Amino acid sequence: ECPAVRPRLPAVRLAALATTDPLTLVLNRRALIDRLTTEIDRARRYDSVVSLLMIDIDHFKLVNDTHGHLVGDEVLREVGAILQHEARTVDIVARYGGEEFVVVLPETGQEGAVTVAERIRERIASAQLCGSNGTPLTVTASIGVALFPAPYVESTEDLFARADEALYRAKADGRDRVHV
Ligand code: GH3
Ligand code: MG
Ligand code: MG
Repeated sequence: ECPAVRPRLPAVRLAALATTDPLTLVLNRRALIDRLTTEIDRARRYDSVVSLLMIDIDHFKLVNDTHGHLVGDEVLREVGAILQHEARTVDIVARYGGEEFVVVLPETGQEGAVTVAERIRERIASAQLCGSNGTPLTVTASIGVALFPAPYVESTEDLFARADEALYRAKADGRDRVHV
């Protein structure tokens, strides 16, 4: 009987496929959770701090509806590139889901995290993107910031939940802003 035909990829490429979001080339959610778990363990052991930014593009559905999905995809790639550019090598940049990204900042407390989040917010808002038919396009993003350690934050899930709450407040407060 015939063996199934499998594509053969070098081990290095297989490893990259397992951890990379194919659209934006930042880390995927599974790789994010692996790396974040390691960072939380490290912070616990060495009495250090970690912050997490949850970044959600504002009214992204409208971008797709107005300009089409291909332009939407290009916006996601651009935002991923901005995050990668703003991050230091020790930081973790990941796509959390649809139009949501996460940046993890090891050894960074609230003041540093808010500074980075504000810079990211400004870079996204000032990026000159290309809409359908070459029309100019800009987008904004809202950012929720959460910190470890903090009261009642014991796990990665707790940290995501806190960042989500802060993000929700940033949206409710008018979008294009950072909340802790
Ligand atoms: P808000 O300001 O409240 O965040 O509004 P929103 O429109 O950004 O949020 P909503 O969750 O309603 O819409 C998210 C949209 O993101 C809907 C979905 O079609 C789109 N989306 C998710 N993943 C992708 C993708 O990979 N490519 C494209 N082009 N669109 C995507
Ligand atoms: Mg969203
Ligand atoms: Mg959104």
